[in-house]
Amino acid sequence: MINIRDLIDDAKCFQTVREMRWPNGVTCPHCDSASVVKDGRDDTQTERQRYLCHGCQKRFDDLTGTIFAGRHESLRTWIVCLYFMGLNLSTLQIARELDMNRGDVQAMVQQLRQGIVERRPAVVLEGEVECDEVYVVAGHKGNPDAVQKKGESAGVDA
Ligand SMILES: [Zn+2]
Repeated sequence: MINIRDLIDDAKCFQTVREMRWPNGVTCPHCDSASVVKDGRDDTQTERQRYLCHGCQKRFDDLTGTIFAGRHESLRTWIVCLYFMGLNLSTLQIARELDMNRGDVQAMVQQLRQGIVERRPAVVLEGEVECDEVYVVAGHKGNPDAVQKKGESAGVDA
């Protein structure tokens, strides 16, 4: 059986992540500075770009601060899952296509629906607290602006 993951290009997957999380250019996930330079590639994943921030002198890469960082599943698996979600496939159908456990796919789908940029721990909230439901569909609608907006609000306002 042909597995779709084997037909997907790693370079395109990382490019997709960059476009989703940084539609206006790379910014540092630690300090939000745009003063960022490329700093080589990941040792094991050659398409994974590393960066050095001149704002805070910290290093990060394409996946730092996203739900894809430190995952067992490959980025290709996540991107293909996202693609299937865009086609409105059910969790069961996606699990079959990816030859994965349905529970694992369910967990991935839930993560993706909340956006690819990881929520930072909430600081002190004052006044009216905004509910996150508004952003639930951002991830699987293929709406990078909405995803980015969520990332910004999590970092600045929350
Ligand atoms: Zn920085």
